[in-house]
Amino acid sequence: MLLVEPRRPLEMRELPDPLPGSGQVLLRVRACGVCRTDLHVADGELPQPKVPLVLGHEIVGVVESGGTRFAAGTRVGVPWLGWTCGECEECRAGRENLCRRARFTGYQIDGGYAERTVADERYCFALPPRYPDAEAAPLLCAGLIGHRSLRMAGDPRRLGLYGFGAAAHLVAQVARAEGREVYAFTSPGDEAAQRLALELGAAWAGSSLTLPPVELDAAILFAPVGALVPQALRAVRKAGVVVCGGIHMSDIPSFPYSLLWGERMVRSVANLTRRDAEEFLSLAERVPLQVHVRPHPLAEANEVLSSLRAGAVTGAAALLP
Ligand SMILES: [Zn+2]
Ligand SMILES: [Zn+2]
Repeated sequence: MLLVEPRRPLEMRELPDPLPGSGQVLLRVRACGVCRTDLHVADGELPQPKVPLVLGHEIVGVVESGGTRFAAGTRVGVPWLGWTCGECEECRAGRENLCRRARFTGYQIDGGYAERTVADERYCFALPPRYPDAEAAPLLCAGLIGHRSLRMAGDPRRLGLYGFGAAAHLVAQVARAEGREVYAFTSPGDEAAQRLALELGAAWAGSSLTLPPVELDAAILFAPVGALVPQALRAVRKAGVVVCGGIHMSDIPSFPYSLLWGERMVRSVANLTRRDAEEFLSLAERVPLQVHVRPHPLAEANEVLSSLRAGAVTGAAALLP
C-alpha cells in the first residue's frame, strides 16, 4: 500500500520484491502496526518523507534471506529507528535516538505496509514468543515509545496518561506492574477507551477536559493536542513532569507562568534507541501485556488510517498482508 504523495489515499501497487543490501535482511511481513505517526506522514505533517513510500514502522516479519545475525525463519521486529550514523556527537554520546543523520522506517526507508520489506539487521529485534504476530506489532512503537516516555516521567506514584490509545494501553500495564497508580484521560465521551483503561487497572478514567481527583506526579501526553500541555500542567504537582510522547502536536497555546512555576517540567521524547528496544522487549517477555489490537487486511490500510484520524480505534490496529 503505497503513499505516492502526502494527503492522498494510499494506492495498492504491485512492486518488485526488495533486494537486501549488505547487512540487510529480507523479511516476509506477518503484521505491521498502524501508528499515529503514519497518519502524520500520510497527512504531510512531517517534512520531506521519501516518496513514493511504504509506510509502517511496527513490522513483525520472518527473515527470508540476507544478513548474518538471524537465521532464515527467525521472527523479528523492526521499529521506527531504521539507521543511525554512529559518528555524530549524539551517536557518540549514546543518544542515537537524536542522531543528526538518522533514518526512520516508514518515513525515509520503506516500511511494513507490504508483503515483503528489507531492514538493516542491526536495527531488528527478536520478539518475545508469547505474543502472536498482530499482538507483537504494537510493541514496536506504541510499546517502545511508551516505555521511553514512562522512563522520562521519573518515578511517579500517580501517573496521568492523556490519550488512551495504543501506547497508553501498554504503558498503563507496565506502570501498574511497577506499582504506580494510573489516571487515564480520553477525548470527552470516549467511553470505550475509558472502559479499557479501567479494565487494565487504571484508578480513574475521565475526560481530558477535567482535572483528576488527586494531584499527579507526572503525566504523559500521547494525544497530539497542544492544548493538553497547560491542561496537564494544571494536573501535576510541584516538580511534576509533563512528557510529550508524540512526534507532532498542534500548537501549544500560551498559558500563565504560574502553571510552570514550582519546578514543573515539560519535555518531549524523540524516537528510541536500540537499548530502549532491548529493555522494553525483555520487560514484555517477563510481564505479560494484554495487547488490544484489531487485525485488518493490508488492503484496508486507508480505512484504518481514517478510523485512527477520527479517534475511532480503541487500543491498537495492525495490518496483515
Ligand atoms: Zn549519528
Ligand atoms: Zn510509531
